[in-house]
Amino acid sequence: MTDSARAEIVVDLAAIRHNVRRLREAVTRPDGSAPAVMAVVKADGYGHGMVPVARAAREAGAEWIGVATLEEAVALREAGDLGPLLTWLAVPGEDHGPALARDVDVSAYSIEQLTAIEKAAGAVGVTARVHLKIDTGLSRGGATRADWPELVAAARAAELAGSVEVVGVWSHLVASDEPERAINDEQELRFLDAVAVAERAGLRPRWRHLANSAAALLRPSIHFDLVRCGIATYGLDPAPGHTQGSGLVPAMTVRARLGMVKPIEPGDGVSYGHQWVADESTWLGLVPAGYGEGIPRAASNRVDVWVAGARRPARGRICMDQFMVDLGPDGAQLAAGDAVELFGTGHDGAPTAQDWAEACNTINYEIVTRIGGRFARIYVDSERDR
Ligand SMILES: *Cc1c(COP(=O)(O)O)cnc(C)c1O
Repeated sequence: MTDSARAEIVVDLAAIRHNVRRLREAVTRPDGSAPAVMAVVKADGYGHGMVPVARAAREAGAEWIGVATLEEAVALREAGDLGPLLTWLAVPGEDHGPALARDVDVSAYSIEQLTAIEKAAGAVGVTARVHLKIDTGLSRGGATRADWPELVAAARAAELAGSVEVVGVWSHLVASDEPERAINDEQELRFLDAVAVAERAGLRPRWRHLANSAAALLRPSIHFDLVRCGIATYGLDPAPGHTQGSGLVPAMTVRARLGMVKPIEPGDGVSYGHQWVADESTWLGLVPAGYGEGIPRAASNRVDVWVAGARRPARGRICMDQFMVDLGPDGAQLAAGDAVELFGTGHDGAPTAQDWAEACNTINYEIVTRIGGRFARIYVDSERDR
């Protein structure tokens, strides 16, 4: 930690590269063939930084990058990213032109969207590469199964007119983190059916894709041509309880310096509302970060942090800028300025984003994606900075 840093998010780019390599190994088939790996870097790289993560992922062999919005895709191109890049969330009125002009693949869920893409492609003078999305059960984005035949027919007509090329057919899973649920099998069948309908209409989608991180690790039958991996790229477990031994390494460590260390007496309450009251004398440490930095208020009295080689429980409510931790009797030897790790790789039993997620009744995705605010974000490379 730099001497002056109050609170910072440290992202290890070597961990990102390691995780992409691990995913590539995990999806390689016995005959040596493998689907392409897409690193998903939407929402500022799940809180890790979209541009540096995309660069590290490409270096480690991710053939594709995926983002949700057109703005994210354009921002990545402006930052110098050149390879295959897919975007999948646009609303009526948004102009696909800037993304198409920058060689971005786009998604269509409906005939209206396909028409908007055709127009934008004509306006910028390119053939749009389109991935058609079928809703196989999530009931979120994607054409309904009833609308699919019409969408593929319209897409085939647009191909013959020369304004688009359908390069992909794709869908998204409902419960990939619960591999035993029957919906996984149903989605696989519905997806195969949708691909068959598209092929019968004359489409030849080079990229058929359905799997996210959990399915990349757990369900080889749906790897098809491409797997879209978000959370695993960041080293977090996509399906806790099902993916032990996946060899992923968390890339994000969140750390700070204690702002103050002080003793309290039995009966002293801590933080707003005195939701925690000491029953014996102890020492408190002030962590200078709070819900203004995306630390969930739900973490109040529930999470641990790591100080001086041990887990220390958060005490009382998490505030906007700060929260308190219980240092126990060790606090007498600690001082303001000492390092505190909120969560990270889990070294020596230190807390992880997964531990925080369980304590806050949420998922690791939300913990890392929301963290930010006034934290500085810095990048290290544990393979190269030695
Ligand atoms: C976010 C997202 C992913 C990545 O999911 P993970 O579970 O993080 O691997 C894949 N596909 C789509 C459509 C997404 O929105």
